[in-house]
Amino acid sequence: MVTAADEAQRAAWRGGGFPEVERVRPGLWSIPVPIPIDSLRYVLVYALELPDGVAIVDAGWDTDEAYGALAAGLGAAGYEVTDVKAVLVTHIHPDHYGLAGRIREVSGAWIGLHPADSRLLRDRYDEAGIDDLVARERLLLVRSGVPSPLLDELAGASAMLRHYVTMARPDRLIEDGDLLGLPGWDLRAVWTPGHSPGHVCFVEQERRLLFSGDHVLPRITPIVAVHPQSAPNPLADYLEALAAVRKFDVDEVLPAHEYRFLELADRVDHVIAHHEERLAEIEAVVGAGDGVTCWDAATGLRWARPWETIPPFMRRGANNETLAHLVWLEARGRLRRVAGEPDLWFPV
Ligand SMILES: [Zn+2]
Ligand SMILES: [Zn+2]
Repeated sequence: MVTAADEAQRAAWRGGGFPEVERVRPGLWSIPVPIPIDSLRYVLVYALELPDGVAIVDAGWDTDEAYGALAAGLGAAGYEVTDVKAVLVTHIHPDHYGLAGRIREVSGAWIGLHPADSRLLRDRYDEAGIDDLVARERLLLVRSGVPSPLLDELAGASAMLRHYVTMARPDRLIEDGDLLGLPGWDLRAVWTPGHSPGHVCFVEQERRLLFSGDHVLPRITPIVAVHPQSAPNPLADYLEALAAVRKFDVDEVLPAHEYRFLELADRVDHVIAHHEERLAEIEAVVGAGDGVTCWDAATGLRWARPWETIPPFMRRGANNETLAHLVWLEARGRLRRVAGEPDLWFPV
């Protein structure tokens, strides 16, 4: 049943506002932490009360504003940052993982992350690894047929994001099926790769809740893209991982963005249908051409706003997301690729 508090959180999202810090269940708090990305606005951090403090699911990214909001939210729940015992990170994107290291410095909390994301930390967030990562991204964009005047801008478009992260190795690697062992919580990790190779959700079996991170969101679909740190066929992983969470019989889903919601299976079906439509659309665009680049296919698709108005960082995401669909279609034998610089895509 949708409660008045659920409605209030939804209304805050829809109205372009900021939801309240809320007690969602006894001992469980929802804390919005701001991120200056218009389309997302905040990360929902969940605080789980323990006998001697709290564990949090995700952390927000590393700005003073985010840290202040998290500290204030914990304060509303009766805790301080020093009371945080564990930071369970759903995946390594800056808005989820960025603050984890700073919280550990203050509180001594342990940080948990899936090994497939832990492996990516150095290249993504260390100065030592970033040049190599940008070079590999550039090559991917060349093979996608991105026009050369745009290459450098697009290749380096997300390198600045590492400034919103305190680089911190996890203390504990969280594997698929692991029981987290937090006193008073029946929390189990489910590996849900796709949006990130090491994305995990957490199922609370006793309370019938799913902490879904970015894997399943109520209104938007997470970006699933081929990039230098992705798996070879991330969309296949993602669709499989959607099927894996669909079977959970939970009462409510607690995502990291937007608002909590009730109908997990319906939402999963909707997301799968979205990707099937997208696959058909991309297959049609490739079918209408005679050797199409990924970039051309991307520019030929429908997006939420006109292509020319999409900022470079997001155009790269659009290209890489298109590539994920192309790769999926290739793996299914529905398209074929002639490799080169750029790769050309043909119908089978
Ligand atoms: Zn993410
Ligand atoms: Zn996110």
